[in-house]
Amino acid sequence: MKQFDRREFMRMGGQLALAMGLGAGATPRIAEGLEALASGTAPVIWLQGQSCSGCSVSFLNSRAPSPFAVLTQFISLRFHSTLSTATGHLAMEVLHKSLQEGGHLLVVEGSIPAGMPRACVMGEEPMTELVKTAAKNAKAVVAIGTCASFGGVPAAENNPTGAIGVPDFLVKEGITTPALRLPGCPAHPDWLVGTLAYVLKVGLPELDKLARPVMFYGRLIHDQCPRFADYERERFAEKFSEDGCLFKLGCLGVSTNADCTYRHWNRGANTCIKAGAPCIGCASPTFAAKANLPFYLKGVASVTEGA
Ligand code: SF4
Ligand code: SF4
Repeated sequence: MKQFDRREFMRMGGQLALAMGLGAGATPRIAEGLEALASGTAPVIWLQGQSCSGCSVSFLNSRAPSPFAVLTQFISLRFHSTLSTATGHLAMEVLHKSLQEGGHLLVVEGSIPAGMPRACVMGEEPMTELVKTAAKNAKAVVAIGTCASFGGVPAAENNPTGAIGVPDFLVKEGITTPALRLPGCPAHPDWLVGTLAYVLKVGLPELDKLARPVMFYGRLIHDQCPRFADYERERFAEKFSEDGCLFKLGCLGVSTNADCTYRHWNRGANTCIKAGAPCIGCASPTFAAKANLPFYLKGVASVTEGA
């Protein structure tokens, strides 16, 4: 397996600092953060609650070599609900040993079934109890994805499990470990890697009132949109595949904070709006909250009609 040297950590730290919108002066600290993650001095425990594992898949969909390769190949990932090689009792023993040692960073993917604890169990232990124990001993808790951040799809209207986001669950349980939110369905790998490296070597990043790092969620998608000039000139697309602002097709970029249009997805390939799809607000606190809210508006009918 490839080993990275100091120079490579510096190069990757520079790339990541740039992606985080930080100046070149931040490179050494971000590089040190990556090195600490890779060396095992900063163990990470990754639990999954009510989730589809999409944020894990997104996290693994990364360019190599890159900061993400450091994490996927070398991160001291003590436990991951789906990636850990150990299974059954052995996996639970590893988890509990790590929890007792403490000092870890806790990443939680998926919401917490606060109203029905046995809706989500691991090794016969309710996720509610595992998250409580893991959070109490953690340096910080990172809620990755919209489900962990705000409840997301599992908390949609009429869900019987009482699903809530992780930070809200911790408040409810009186747990004061710092917790931050990285919403998105799924979350972008940069958001997680950058946040972990920053927390380790610099401290908690600046957060907005919803505990999201400002460096990733500080601006509306609308304000950074490549179709913003069309919006200003009231040139609206009436159907998918048309040029123009996607507002009339239901675009929620006007009310969603994230840097997708700048950052791009799938190894830098593209992003929703550039690909012609309205933003469905997957990083928004209200994503999927209402049973009757369609992702798209009349464009769906238009496409059908034109088919
Ligand atoms: S496509 Fe969406 S985000 Fe872009 S300008 Fe139009 S409404 Fe705003
Ligand atoms: S553009 Fe909107 S729907 Fe697409 S990933 Fe970003 S927040 Fe989610």
